[in-house]
Order: sequence, then structure tokens, then C-alpha cells
Amino acid sequence: MIYYKTNEEIELIRLSSLLVGKTLAETARSIKPGVTTAELDRIAETFIRDHGAIPAFKGYGGFPGTLCISVNDVVVHGIPGNQVLQDGDLVSVDCGVILNGFYGDSAYSFAVGTVSEEKRLLMQRTKESLYRGIEVAKAGKRIGDIGYEIQTYVEQYGYSVVRDLVGHGLGRHLHEKPEVPNYGKRGVGTMLQAGLVICIEPMINLGRRQVIQERDGWTIRTADRLPSAHYEHAIAIMEGKTEILSSFDEIEKVLESQQ
Ligand code: MG
Ligand code: MG
Repeated sequence: MIYYKTNEEIELIRLSSLLVGKTLAETARSIKPGVTTAELDRIAETFIRDHGAIPAFKGYGGFPGTLCISVNDVVVHGIPGNQVLQDGDLVSVDCGVILNGFYGDSAYSFAVGTVSEEKRLLMQRTKESLYRGIEVAKAGKRIGDIGYEIQTYVEQYGYSVVRDLVGHGLGRHLHEKPEVPNYGKRGVGTMLQAGLVICIEPMINLGRRQVIQERDGWTIRTADRLPSAHYEHAIAIMEGKTEILSSFDEIEKVLESQQ
């Protein structure tokens, strides 16, 4: 079943999701060649706990990290560890927190040093596809309208949409109904209505859409080993408007200051 949220609950999910954005921004300061993914994970965990929240991914289904850190051909669910980031890497960082009993969830893809034009465009267009999906996510539309928008936007560039992983409802649980695929048909699926809080999170591959899971039971990698990008916002469908609950503002302030 779908849990529709009250405005008070939506404000709590907003607080949680904004903390995720701040955590990603704090992490972004250290995303540079030479840093290990474990160091980034420590920074994020300390920041979350210092703000009175709990890292939501740590221990979720047995996941060992605070962040999912997915480098280049890793799509999502990369486990933080000894991997050293290199100039030219594309790194997707996904973060969740629990604050006041509500989850926040958001993700952003970063360039490490200078990336190829191919990767830069993949990141830029994946982020754009997220905002296009959000743009159609209004009361009275359906889940399929979101996926259709994302899919048609990215496929014009020859990219592909990962099918095996999807967005989701968000609230007192990290993954609630409904599923929010990043592909689909117009006018199909659950109707969006006030009180629905969902995460839209396109995972877009430069090459083919097929993915494989590594033996660690988590890491999802592209089958063709070409890079993938991932951005995620939590949004709330409200009467007459849709609000983005998470924010990339803090992250992008850090990125601008680094240029
Ligand atoms: Mg996420
Ligand atoms: Mg999510």
C-alpha cells in the first residue's frame, strides 16, 4: 500500500532530505584524486551523526557503508573501501539519513579532477533527465509519465536507462510503494496525488542498459563496462504544486568554489 503523507510529515522528510544534501556537500569538499572512498564515507558518517541523525544505509540489508560510492562503470551500491579516486573518474554518491523517524535520500554524480567530455555530458544529461522527470510529476499525472520523460530525453543521446533498479516512495521507510521506474509509457501506472512522496533517481548508462551484480552482493556494474551516472531527488506531490524536498544547492556551491 501507498502511505500518503500529511504536510507535517512532508516537512520532516524535507528536513531529512536537506541534511542528505548538506552531507553530500561536505563530502564533495574531499572528492579529489588521491582520496579513498572509505575516507569519504567517514566524513559523511561523522557529519550525519554530528547533526543528530543516523546514517540510513549503514546496516540496511547488511550494507556496510554510510554512502554508496559508485565509480565509473559502477552504477549504484558501490561499497566504500580502499579504492583511490583518480583524475578523470566519474563518482556517484548516494546518501540516506534517518532524522525524527523519517528517511531522507538523495544522490549526485561528481567529476574527479577533469573528466572526459563523454562523461561530462553523461552527467549533465542525467541530471537534466531528473529535472525533466520532476517537471511532469504533478497531481493527476501517472508514474509512467515520469519514466517516459526521462527515457525519451536520455535515449535521444544514445544512452540507456537501467531497468533493474528504480526509484521509490519515501517516508518512515527507505523504500516504500510505489516503484518509480526511469522508463515507461505515458498515462500508465499509479496516479500521482497530494501526499505522495517519491524519490526519482535516474541511473543512466553511456552504453547498454544491462547490469551485473558483483560477488560482494551489492556492487551493480554495467555489463559493457561503460560509465553510468546517477542523480536523485526526493519530491512531494502537493495540492497544485510539486516540491523538491532534497537540494543540490549546497553541493553545487562547493563545486563552484572549487573551480
Ligand atoms: Mg538514494
Ligand atoms: Mg533512493
